Amino acid sequence: MTGSMEPAPVRALLVASEMVPLVKTGGLADVVGALPAALGPHGVDARVLIPCYPAVARLGWPVVARIAGLPGPFGPLWGTLRAGRVDDGSGGGAEVVALDVPVLYDRGGGPYQATDGTDWPDNPFRFAALARAAQRIAQADALPGWVPDVVHGHDWQAGLVPAYLALSGGRRVPAVTTIHNIAFQGVADVAHLAALQLPPTAFSIYGVEYRGGIGFLKAGLFYADRVTTVSPTYAWEITTPDGGLGLDGLLAGRRDQLSGILNGIDAGVWNPARDPHLPAPYDAADPSGKAASTAALRSAFGLAGDPAAPLFAIVSRLTDQKGIDLVIGALPRLLAEGGQLCVLGAGERSLEAELEAAAAASPGRVAVRLGFDEPLSHLIQAGADALLVPSRFEPCGLTQMYALRYGTIPVVRRVGGLADTVVNATAEALAAGRATGVVFEDATADALAYAIGRACALWRDEPTWRRLRSAGMALDNGWARAAGAYADLYRGLVPPG
Ligand code: ADP
Repeated sequence: MTGSMEPAPVRALLVASEMVPLVKTGGLADVVGALPAALGPHGVDARVLIPCYPAVARLGWPVVARIAGLPGPFGPLWGTLRAGRVDDGSGGGAEVVALDVPVLYDRGGGPYQATDGTDWPDNPFRFAALARAAQRIAQADALPGWVPDVVHGHDWQAGLVPAYLALSGGRRVPAVTTIHNIAFQGVADVAHLAALQLPPTAFSIYGVEYRGGIGFLKAGLFYADRVTTVSPTYAWEITTPDGGLGLDGLLAGRRDQLSGILNGIDAGVWNPARDPHLPAPYDAADPSGKAASTAALRSAFGLAGDPAAPLFAIVSRLTDQKGIDLVIGALPRLLAEGGQLCVLGAGERSLEAELEAAAAASPGRVAVRLGFDEPLSHLIQAGADALLVPSRFEPCGLTQMYALRYGTIPVVRRVGGLADTVVNATAEALAAGRATGVVFEDATADALAYAIGRACALWRDEPTWRRLRSAGMALDNGWARAAGAYADLYRGLVPPG
């Protein structure tokens, strides 16, 4: 046979609560922002459905459809769908549909919380409405001219998508749920069952019931045709009591439909050869420009210009998950080794205060910037010698992959995606040229302190450090591999023809 035809593209609707560059609180936004463009070459026509937060409303996208009967706290709500395209600044982009329901989304604060850090009380409705809109787009042609073959929900905010699809009685549309972080489970009061448009029969362990409430993530895991998470190691960890946080039984029972697809990074945005946030470009072939970022980083943080000090960095949410308390415990060792530490992050007040106290106690050697600062996060990745990621659990983790690309050596705990992306600098791995970082086992300050000591010893051995650095920079952690895996997954769910 000649002239074989390309298969028709699979249309996939991605449903999520955040996406780069529109709204971001964590790695989920990076994934949803990058995946659509990466899926294109794999024969997937992807669109993303997100809430029309103020940052999206300001774009003034045209209304393309209206949807009635969305679940609202005081009765059904009208919504409109606005369609537009976002650019990621590096040639990629995504077609986006924004669900506009001003009473649910048009407010200051963050996507999940008010500025005082408390969850929006109507979150169940804000994300049920999003899920309901996805179901209408998939089963009731709510988006003119575009009907998805598969719906791919991300995290608990999209958890009701597979439930609505399964319970509506409409045509069968396969659903995928991806877990980016199982710690966020989205449990609503059972009193909302009817208002959330869920039938009483769905309130069962074989349905949406979870810990006496309505489990959004649980529903997503129960009703989805396939469940994925963002690294192979995390896919195994969440089937265990320690990692599953209550959902391990369900996930262990669905092992055959569960897989781990390692996240990629947006290699256009995270590229030291073309990063507008760096004072000088560099790459694996000529990393000399990295020194300019190190100098700029020290001056941005007020750190002493000490060439004998290995510069450690953290870019992270400041939470228990991220092991920030371990860093505070390991700080004496880091300082005793002559190291410096700069931290960019925001989160729990107590951790913020401890870090600020540590900075005040060691001026010029420890510095902290509280808040969210995308440009500064790039400068840190470029300017630091090593990045600390001592997470208690880590579904995938992106910062260690950015570090690898920027020639910054990750010091990580062997857990979740960190275990899948960093090769420990053992004598054997170093000899084979495979080593890319320092990996430690226990979630203790002592184990981290020991790892910091190892990193410092490696740093002082310049040729070895250079080898580590070039092995990391040579890795291809772009989205192509993951996008291929998602495309295969979708295609396996969609009947041929
Ligand atoms: P998580 O999603 O659990 O927060 P990831 O490592 O998967 O962790 O993703 C975190 C993302 O958020 C990365 O892109 C990281 O650079 C970014 N980030 C975290 N904290 C900050 C901050 N304070 N300022 C800028 N970017 C940050």
